[in-house]
Amino acid sequence: MITEIESSNSTLNAYHEILADSARATAHSIDTRLAAGDDPGPLAGSILAIKDNLCTTEGHTTCSSRMLENYRSPYDATVITRLLEAGATLVGKTNMDEFAMGSSSETCAWGPVRNPHGNDRVPGGSSGGSASAVGAGLADAALGSDTGGSIRQPAAFCGCVGFKPTYGRISRYGLVAFGSSLDQIGPLARSVRDAALIYEVLGGVDSNDATTSDLAIEPSLADGPIDPSTLRIGVPREHCTDRNHPGVTERLEQAIDSLRNAGATIVDVDLPMTDYGISTYYVIAPAEASSNLARYDGIRYGYRADPRPGESLEELYARTRSEGFGPEVRRRIMLGTYVLSAGYYDAYYKRSLQVRRLIKQEFDSAFAKCDILLGPTSPSPAFRIGAGLDTISMYLNDVYTVNANIAGIPAISIPGGSVEQDGETLPIGLHLQAPAFGESKLLRVASTIESMVRSR
Ligand code: GLN
Repeated sequence: MITEIESSNSTLNAYHEILADSARATAHSIDTRLAAGDDPGPLAGSILAIKDNLCTTEGHTTCSSRMLENYRSPYDATVITRLLEAGATLVGKTNMDEFAMGSSSETCAWGPVRNPHGNDRVPGGSSGGSASAVGAGLADAALGSDTGGSIRQPAAFCGCVGFKPTYGRISRYGLVAFGSSLDQIGPLARSVRDAALIYEVLGGVDSNDATTSDLAIEPSLADGPIDPSTLRIGVPREHCTDRNHPGVTERLEQAIDSLRNAGATIVDVDLPMTDYGISTYYVIAPAEASSNLARYDGIRYGYRADPRPGESLEELYARTRSEGFGPEVRRRIMLGTYVLSAGYYDAYYKRSLQVRRLIKQEFDSAFAKCDILLGPTSPSPAFRIGAGLDTISMYLNDVYTVNANIAGIPAISIPGGSVEQDGETLPIGLHLQAPAFGESKLLRVASTIESMVRSR
């Protein structure tokens, strides 16, 4: 398996570092435990890839940034400890957009990641390496992080399942912080069942992360398939617009028809704040990032520019940060610093928090009319590497995903079939959202729709 991963990775660039020795050692110890009649845990035998913004004592934790090129974490993230306790074999650290900022994995300092469904296409981002690895069969599943869609959009682009639980379900201890009020860790997997199993291993309270919830994690799929006739599925009008690739809307309509034929009640819902999500997100996330990334000053750890004689400390900080961070990260830090600065705070940051509240209320009203919201994950399938999307078009990729982070609710992308683009056949994702802490129903509905799509 490791040899196969190494050879395919030279094309896909999904992994930055393959942890061959420690993976072999884990696999060996699992075999020994099995031979001794021990139960090595629910994930024994499964090979998992880890996004490179999750701290691991094995290998490096680079966030795909020159800033952390040589960084080795002295501790494991809680999710890593839980995976190891459950018997998983961690096979490598995956490439991503630098510091998780992006939707294409092109801002990775170690070169762009490629999509297994078309090697000249992006895998999505920022968890693009994780999605590419799972989509190509170079891991059974992977961990990603999702601040505005970074698990779900790459899962959609690479034909896998990507699940972002409710904010607070999974400990963020050991996740390199981007937007702390939005960040959530979750699995990318080949099926809803696998994603649910990993979620159950990862989730639950952690004394190292005060934002984790102590609500019990219910085993989601134990009750078997859900009867569609008991369901009210809400379809937001704002998610079926002509900004979608026509094939994306067609696949969505097919899924709606299958659900209706199986007896589900389909409800039209309005989410008029949808488009405000992007502006709100691109104020709040950079504001939090500008504060979180202030720690990379080149003095305590990470990259440091070569000091020049006579240079002041301020000048050394500035050069370190200009050389260590790539252009997108610098853009976000400047944007975030600006919206938090005296005089602009009220106009941008405070206002965004107010809009955040309205978006949350809009979801509450929508969920009074339906159990689950269904729409596309992204308006289009994977675009070409170097397509040269301007910043705004790149940000608009996240139009359907950011609001789940803004409201803190759980959301999942599942394979929704494929569409034709320039003579190529590319996967697209269906996006399901549920009320906060409604993972159990969300996963059961996702599993039902997954089998409908598979049997088509
Ligand atoms: N694409 C979004 C951004 O660039 C989301 C990133 C994420 O979820 N980490 O910020």
